[in-house]
Amino acid sequence: MKNGKVWLAGAGPGDPGLLTVKAKRLIETADVIVYDRLVGDAVLSLIPCGTERIDVGKTSGHHPVPQEEISRILLKEAQKGKKVLRLKGGDPFVFGRGGEEIELLSSHQIPYEIIPGITSAVAVPAYAGIPVTHRDFCSSFHIITAHRKRGDHSLPDFDTLAKLDGTLIFLMGVSALEDICKGLILAGMKAETPAAIIESGTTSRQRRVVAALDTLPERAKEKSVSSPAVIVVGRVCSLENQLAWAEHRPLHGCRIVVTRPKNRASSLAERLEILGAEVLLLPSIQTKSISPNPVFLETIQNLDHYQWIAFTSPAGAELFFEGLHRAGKDSRCLSAHKIAAIGPATAKAVLQYGGLFCDYQPEAFTGESLGNGLSERLLPSDRLLLPRSDIATDQVLKPLIRKGISYTDLPVYETKYQPFFPPVLTPDDIIAFTSASTVRGFVSRMKGCEGMTALCIGEQTAEEAKRFQFETVVAKQATIDSMIEALICYHQERKKKR
Ligand code: SAH
Repeated sequence: MKNGKVWLAGAGPGDPGLLTVKAKRLIETADVIVYDRLVGDAVLSLIPCGTERIDVGKTSGHHPVPQEEISRILLKEAQKGKKVLRLKGGDPFVFGRGGEEIELLSSHQIPYEIIPGITSAVAVPAYAGIPVTHRDFCSSFHIITAHRKRGDHSLPDFDTLAKLDGTLIFLMGVSALEDICKGLILAGMKAETPAAIIESGTTSRQRRVVAALDTLPERAKEKSVSSPAVIVVGRVCSLENQLAWAEHRPLHGCRIVVTRPKNRASSLAERLEILGAEVLLLPSIQTKSISPNPVFLETIQNLDHYQWIAFTSPAGAELFFEGLHRAGKDSRCLSAHKIAAIGPATAKAVLQYGGLFCDYQPEAFTGESLGNGLSERLLPSDRLLLPRSDIATDQVLKPLIRKGISYTDLPVYETKYQPFFPPVLTPDDIIAFTSASTVRGFVSRMKGCEGMTALCIGEQTAEEAKRFQFETVVAKQATIDSMIEALICYHQERKKKR
């Protein structure tokens, strides 16, 4: 195909969970993604690092790319034969100029598709506990822009709006808030009509101010509410008191960067999201099986030589069994061996990939306690196999060496830094590290991390984070559960202090 194709897609109001399945698939497969300011950071973090990005949004101090230029960019990229994703905040056709952007494509016979998105006009009130309709209160809702075109400062027709008896939802209205509230009251709406303004809805920065129509502007000013914000006017706003939910989640207000390799990030990320955190996915390392690996092949031909096999990471377990299977063997060749795992996640991987239960797991999930436990359990004649990473540390080895236990350190996978697109982080953002190598991978790409908070799985990881001047919060036990517990405590304390 000479010409490519353009997908004009809504990215929703910020929470990546509000992306449509179609939009998410295109984020993963597009050649080039053209996006603007209202597309959430967590959504942008889903863009694969090799995908070309074009930011046409306004950043502080810079002007946005003019509309005609955006249309030309879409045309030019499509004419190069590319799969172009134009990502816009909310829904592309709700005050999103989506129509203008595709006119040029249509006149050049460039194929395109529209992927509607979840509009902020409905989703942002919902995240603040305000249903835009309710049978007891209204029979319609209306989405109104407070700004029309550049240079046109005319206000909406308040006389008409005041008569509608429906919920009124204003977009792009922060600077016109006072005019809107006054205009509606002058047009006959009661001063005590419930109203609300919700800033950065569905993200970790979500805040809401709910007040009577006549006091809302003042209350919003006190709280320095800024754009983007949705204004809602109508009796449905009185339900907020009873129905608000998003801000009550234990990790609401917490933005956290997950640096685990992509294939292992989802368990942590999903759980953080369920607890209300905004998660940016920035895998900073990748783990790959070492291939070819003649030492591995030779070792598995001589497994009888060993009495114990100890796994120190889920990746080690997965890639050991994968290699075993590739060599035409299965777990029956381990029937005489004792198996150890450093902790529950590794034990789970041994069961998942090898179908084997572990015989030993130390009380503390660290290399040192595994080494200590093994050196107490192995007989002097026993030999131990350690399938691990090519850059594993000697924590587990030290106690073994002290006891004179004979072991083979077998690298089965390599750990590499994963390039990622560095986002703009704030000092409040927290970075989650599940190994010392994730710390090194992260700082290799991100500058200025000094003083930021690192949530670390254990002491060894925390040591590495401290070397780069992070403040650290350390899990009591080296598990994801324990990391999450530590994060909740830290976040609650921080909230109290503010
Ligand atoms: N197409 C978008 C709207 C674009 S107009 C949609 O369907 O949502 C831009 C306005 O949308 C902003 O000025 C603000 O009023 C609103 N908006 C978009 N995202 C928002 C968010 N996360 N929180 C609050 N308001 C938002």
